Parts: sequence; C-alpha cells; structure tokens
Amino acid sequence: MRNALSNLLDRVVLGESPTRRLWFARRMPDGYIRKTQSLDFKTTVRWVAQRSAFYRRRFRELRIDPALVRCPADLGDLFTTSTDLLTHPAEDFLCDRAQAGFETTGTLSPKSKRVFFSLDEMRDMGRDGAAGLWALGVRREDRMVSALDLPFWNAGPALRASAQTLGCLLVEAGKIPPAEFYERAADYRFNVMVVEPSWIVSLTTIAESAGTWPVKLMLVGGENMSERSRRYVEEVWKTDLYLTYGQTESFGSAGTECARKNGYHLQELKFWFEIPEPDDHGHGELVFTTLSRRVMPLLRYRTSDVARFMEGTCDCDLKMLRRISKIIGRCDEMVNCGLGNISPWMFEKVLEGVSGIAHDWQVLVTRPGLRDGIEIRVELLDGVSQHVVDRAIRMSLQELFPDMARNLAMGLCEMKVAGAVRGTLRTGRKLRSIVDLRKTLFGAEAAVPSGHPA
Ligand SMILES: [Zn+2]
Repeated sequence: MRNALSNLLDRVVLGESPTRRLWFARRMPDGYIRKTQSLDFKTTVRWVAQRSAFYRRRFRELRIDPALVRCPADLGDLFTTSTDLLTHPAEDFLCDRAQAGFETTGTLSPKSKRVFFSLDEMRDMGRDGAAGLWALGVRREDRMVSALDLPFWNAGPALRASAQTLGCLLVEAGKIPPAEFYERAADYRFNVMVVEPSWIVSLTTIAESAGTWPVKLMLVGGENMSERSRRYVEEVWKTDLYLTYGQTESFGSAGTECARKNGYHLQELKFWFEIPEPDDHGHGELVFTTLSRRVMPLLRYRTSDVARFMEGTCDCDLKMLRRISKIIGRCDEMVNCGLGNISPWMFEKVLEGVSGIAHDWQVLVTRPGLRDGIEIRVELLDGVSQHVVDRAIRMSLQELFPDMARNLAMGLCEMKVAGAVRGTLRTGRKLRSIVDLRKTLFGAEAAVPSGHPA
C-alpha cells in the first residue's frame, strides 16, 4: 500500500511513458528510493493492521504495535511463509476487493497457493514492465510472442499488461509443443520471444537444423537457466537472451537483467528486499515485503529462493536499482526443472500404486546435456524387472500428473528409472527425496566475481 505521493508520482507523473519512467529511474538518488520504501512500508503495515485478519492476529501473538514499526527489522520474528498462504483462507490476507487471481504450485502439499490482485495493481505492473522491456530494446514496432504457460499462472497476464502499455504486437501462443510452435510461428516473423528455459532449449534444437528467423531478443521467466543453455540458445538464434526473476506472489517480475546480464536489478520502489540470515558468502533466503499492494499485501514473504545482494554499481539505465545474483537454489526440496515444479509429495503419489518396488526412493535432477535429466531411483523387489517398473512409473505419471508427462513428451527433459538392490539407497538416517545436482552447476556460475561489470 503506497502513500498518496508515491501513487501520484507513479500513476500520474511517470504514467504510461516508458521513456519518462526510465529517465526518472536513471536519475533518482538512492536517498529517494530509501525514503519512498520507508514511507510505503509504514503505510503498508498500517493498512494490513486495519484490514488483514492474518496480520492482525500475528501482531497480537508477537506483541507488535504496528504504529511503532518503521522498517522490516522492527517486525522481529514476523515473516510470511508459503505454508501461511496454504493453511489460512485467502480472505485472511485480503485487504481490498480482488479482481484477478492466480495460483502458484505448492511446495509442501498438493494444494496451490492463491494470490489476488486488483486491475489497478496489474496496470501498475504493466507500466513498470513496459519500462523494463524498453530498457532491453523492445519498441512499439516490434512483434512479440509469448510461449508462457497460461492456466492459472500470472506470467502471461503480467506480460500482456506490459505489452499493452508499450503498444507493441503481442501474440500469446501458450506453452504448446515446440515443433507445433515452430510451424505456426514462422509466418509472423516474431522478433521478440518470451519463453520458458527448458522449452526454448527444445525449440532451439529444432531451429538449429530447420533454420532460425531474425530475433532481436528473448526474455526468459519461470525457472532458472544455466549459462550453458543460454549460450546455446543465443548462438543458434544469434540473439540476446535475458532472464527475469519473479514469483506469482510478486505478480511478475520483481527483478530483471539488464544488457549486462549480470544479476537481477530489483524493483525496489515496489518491494523491500532483505536477506535476513546470509551465510559467509552473503547467500541466504530472499525475503520481500510488497510496498504498493492494496489487495493482498505481504509482509516479509519468504521466497525460499537463495541468492545474494551484489556489490558494485552497474553502468546501465537501471543502475540505481540494486542487484541480486542468480538464484542458486531453493530452500525447500521443491525443484524447478524441465519436468515442471517437482516436489517429494508428487513422487510419493506416482510411486504409491507401482508394485514391485520397496519403500525407499530418490530422485536426482541432473543436466547431462542441455536439457534436464530426471533419474528416479527405486529399489526393486526380488525377481522384478526394471523394464516393468519403468513402464508402470511412466503410466502412473501420465495418469496423475499429465502436465509433467506432457513436458516429457515435448522433450523438455529426459527421464530415466534406475533400479537398485533393496536396502542400498539409504546410506544415512535420512534419505533426501530430491537431490538437485544442477545446484553445483548454478553454484559455480554464481561464484563468478561480480562488482563492476566489464
Ligand atoms: Zn544493469
């Protein structure tokens, strides 16, 4: 929830013009950002204290007087987690009338978190998004296509709002099979493509042999992408591919890369970001407070994404906005990969009805080539053939999680079932259900020295 002055500046003075917004972004002093954050933070705390049943209860439990809160640290142990969003009715968070709703996949249970917005909030996001697109080089004359998944997800509507402000052509293909996209997209001569990482790698393998068309730039959202995959896509298409960082909870992009491709510039006028418990390298869970939301403001939302604030100043138009590194991993066991957003509970379900296997199992997520690889390790009972179990697991996946089976069929990742001798998977007391071996890859990339980009 913003104070009246921030609202006036954002909606009226800066308004629809991406160039005015960028002109301002280039010049705003750090003091202005911190002061605005502080004012809007206090306004947000007072707002939820009046209207949100969830936060009123939390303030009471933690003996916090909202009138005395000036910055996130003043909230002490108060955080908002994805479990909070899952276990409380959405109404407990709502402070104003909702006009749009989206879902984000649950990490701990099969339930999805629901997040709500007003149309004004979506337009606000569109104005910022349009300025971000402009900064990367998108213009009114460009022909943009979105291959983002659409059902229940906010990324598509967020992009639509930005394209509407910018006034460029936008065609929403949705996440259709890459081969079909390739056939249908050719005639449009799209020169700006907004895509998901595993999907664009698949499309690129097709385009590598069948031919590309001129592309000004690509924008990727939804999950992490390795630098190796980025380079591959950029080399085949002879273009630039930029990553964005966001969550459904933040409605679209909370951070974006600039032309330097060195970390995400944070949208600090709309969010207050913290890393409350950094390790020795500065890495820790990213936490944000929304500063402009009226409908469903969130105080200190734990993203589960691990990153660090980057030092040094970038020399681009967005230099006044601080940067975070690429996300090096998730706090919990949910893993974003070519198969989808996977969690232990999903494999429990898939394996539940499969006969011939023992209780223990483990899923390894790897990156053998350019695509993700999923290795499902199961312990085979005596006399059971791996081939039979493999087929049963695939059938179960198809039946229970058709979206994942679809990603597999599209070639977004490879899946392999590996049978082990009974009792050999568990070496310690606990067996980690999902091990993301790609973290080593992302971790190594994130360790590249930051500071002043070349
Ligand atoms: Zn920059």
